Amino acid sequence: MSSHIMPTYARLAVTFERGEGAWLWDENQQRYLDALSGIAVCNLGHAHPAVHEAICQQSAKLLHTSNLYQIASQEKLADKLIQMSGMTNVFFSNSGAEANEAAIKLARKFGHSKGIEIPKIIVMDKSFHGRTLATLSATGNAKIQQGFEPLVEGFIRVPYNDIAAIKTVLAENSSVVAILVEPIQGEGGVNIPASDYLNQIRALCDEYDVLMMLDEIQTGIGRTGKFLAFQHNEIIPDVCTLAKALGNGVPIGACLAHGKAADLFVAGNHGSTFGGNPLACSAAFAVLNTLKNSDLIAQATEKGNTICDAFQEKLNSNAHVLNIRHLGLMIGIELDTPCTELVGKALSAGLLINVTQDKVIRLLPPLVIDTNQITQLVDTLSTLIQEHTNP
Ligand SMILES: *Cc1c(COP(=O)(O)O)cnc(C)c1O
Repeated sequence: MSSHIMPTYARLAVTFERGEGAWLWDENQQRYLDALSGIAVCNLGHAHPAVHEAICQQSAKLLHTSNLYQIASQEKLADKLIQMSGMTNVFFSNSGAEANEAAIKLARKFGHSKGIEIPKIIVMDKSFHGRTLATLSATGNAKIQQGFEPLVEGFIRVPYNDIAAIKTVLAENSSVVAILVEPIQGEGGVNIPASDYLNQIRALCDEYDVLMMLDEIQTGIGRTGKFLAFQHNEIIPDVCTLAKALGNGVPIGACLAHGKAADLFVAGNHGSTFGGNPLACSAAFAVLNTLKNSDLIAQATEKGNTICDAFQEKLNSNAHVLNIRHLGLMIGIELDTPCTELVGKALSAGLLINVTQDKVIRLLPPLVIDTNQITQLVDTLSTLIQEHTNP
């Protein structure tokens, strides 16, 4: 097919027309089970009535004014986010990369406020933080950086889930101002760190007076069985970035700050034309309200356990399946062999999945996935994995 769109994505040959919950239908009325949610975006499922209604009501009144004026729906969303996260205040952006840009700017401002002229941020191997120049520089993946040098300076990279490596850098480098880390690495292979990893980072950040900055763009908004993944650890970071599921498909990102990080930006320091506009904020408020007034976040824990127990049972005699790991509905099935072709095979079988790092099947089903859909997911994918590994 000839296309006038830059070929930045290797797209699958399917066009979806409509959705409902975890179902999607293509142009030919073929039905698919969505176990990816647009990469952790549609956590409430497709065509969620509360989000639909919020968008319709807001668009009938006002889509956009400007951050030059007060925006009631932005204030209302901020109040809700602060209440649910325990953070102090928020800057709204349109995407995850932009939320991380705000975080990186906060870290640099924090450093300069302490008299550090060339502030450094510790980032992780295999991390993913976005595609803008600063965020791709923070990202721990050479493929994403290649061809776009010179990279933005000021990042020091250490292995993920390695507290000793962070300690070494902090001890040797007085210009470190922040640590930027994902609670679970998504693009990096659904890498789940030690359960006290974030607690240890929190303690080190306090000891060295550096900002703890969590990229919760993929892990946030109920995905892991808590509203935000750091709530499993009962800590509060200094900065936390959100996007993806915050608007359930309406583009919106957020950079939340706490305590000393909350007072760094003053008028003129940062901005965005669209960021936090009435439409996006109304949609996001509907998302948070729906999560708050339902047990969907608790269901993420239960459903994640059900799905992984079932996979474990079906696949436990398969020596090519190295590991089935998850927190809530963020699920990784690691094989000992490349399995990217499973994405196309699953599509042909009416199932949407993702493979990251060549060998890790990544599942991010919507929180609303039901029992029958769970059975279909486990049965279809287990069969495909068995065929792939025992041809
Ligand atoms: C998706 C993602 C981003 C980038 O978000 P965009 O909205 O695509 O800019 C950043 N960090 C993490 C952890 C992500 O999963």
